[in-house]
Amino acid sequence: MSGQDETRQLLRAIPSVEALLNEPAIARFTERMDRARLRDHLRRILDDLRKDIQEGRWNHPGETIVPEIVRRLRDHIALVHQPSLRRLINATGVVIHTNLGRAPLAEEAVEAMVDVARHYANLEYDLSEGRRGRRDVHCERWLVELLGCQAALVVNNCAAAVLLTLNTLAEGGEVIVSRGELVEIGGSFRIPDIMAKSGAILREVGTTNRTRLSDYENAINENTRLLLRVHQSNFRITGFTEQPPLDELVRLGRQYGLPCYHDLGGGCLVDVSAWGIHDEPRVQDSLRAGVSLCSFSGDKLLGGPQAGVIVGERALVDRLRRNPLMRTVRPDKLTLAALEATLRLYYSGRAETEVPVLSMLRSPVDALRRRARRFIRRGRRLCPHIRFHLRPGASVPGGGTAPDARVETVLIAVDVPSFPADAVEQRLRAHDPPILARIEDDRVVLDLRTVRPDEERTILDAFAAMA
Ligand SMILES: *Cc1c(COP(=O)(O)O)cnc(C)c1O
Repeated sequence: MSGQDETRQLLRAIPSVEALLNEPAIARFTERMDRARLRDHLRRILDDLRKDIQEGRWNHPGETIVPEIVRRLRDHIALVHQPSLRRLINATGVVIHTNLGRAPLAEEAVEAMVDVARHYANLEYDLSEGRRGRRDVHCERWLVELLGCQAALVVNNCAAAVLLTLNTLAEGGEVIVSRGELVEIGGSFRIPDIMAKSGAILREVGTTNRTRLSDYENAINENTRLLLRVHQSNFRITGFTEQPPLDELVRLGRQYGLPCYHDLGGGCLVDVSAWGIHDEPRVQDSLRAGVSLCSFSGDKLLGGPQAGVIVGERALVDRLRRNPLMRTVRPDKLTLAALEATLRLYYSGRAETEVPVLSMLRSPVDALRRRARRFIRRGRRLCPHIRFHLRPGASVPGGGTAPDARVETVLIAVDVPSFPADAVEQRLRAHDPPILARIEDDRVVLDLRTVRPDEERTILDAFAAMA
């Protein structure tokens, strides 16, 4: 038989789409999608298969055509039906990784979210009065308890908190800020741009490394509305620097009847210095210094969902609440449920063990070394061809937290024979679920600080598949 006859015969052996839809191995895919979508997938697969046969890329016996179609269909469906947003394993040791969704939530926060997601909720309903209520009461109560502030408001993220605050308190007026604080913060958060959109006019004072109280005082005029301090989240100017302490800025503001607003970013409520993170101000410290308002993210050191929290004086918070912009930056019920549950963990004194960001950061290096040793023992058993060894290193808090901070850790360096480090890294990334690792000195390294113990097996399986 000539090649052409063979090709023709194979093409004729391809069943019709309708006949294929009645094959049990194919019909069972209708449990997960309607027939129209399945028919669509089948047409594409048959088109590709016809082309492969015509161009000589597929020339197996005709009776293997249906199993081939089923196999191609399964692969195709697995690929195109895969969600775009997926969980992954973070073995980079960067605890608050903006590209990886920042803070993983505490179990109780997840449960609270699922509960209100599945059901109706008293989001804006006052159960004791039996009438319309406010969505901001749910978290405010806990923030007031925890921080001793007068009032609190939750918005979509901290950038929105800054926009809302500046627009409410300073639209058309001037805001004084030190030049040294006007920088881009991770995720292209640029204060001057937000300021411009808020309608407030920026009055930069001082130089990049030195700003004195007198610089602020000299800039005050009848159009001044606010004194702003922005926490230098992801950078430090070191050496010859000067910045007036926050309480002095507050005192200057009081003298001129101007509120002082501190954009903190981090949202740290506990003392993290014992874990090697210095210079990360707590929200309480900022309030104690007397600022009128303070804002921070929900998903940085606080360890909750994406949100922006504004705390401070009731009169000012009430003005923010009444701003029509509030309607554009309000959080949804899922965020509020997760944030409230996270705040309750702080309230009951369980945050350091239950909030993942905190429990990861406080994990002692000895405990990480024990885990790493156990991981390596299992690794040598499961993948004897791969070399694992321990090396000292540093985890990074990340997320604009204390930029100099390096938390001592133990790294697992991995050598897979005949795989260069970037190929290993790429294989890990292509795994399901994807695994993200670091490359240091041409070697893939894993930091178990950001890996859950129940994820270790998945990482080992991914290595075992690299033979
Ligand atoms: C991170 C950060 C922001 C932006 O917070 P998002 O929650 O990402 O919007 C604002 N200000 C400071 C000081 C920050 O560190």
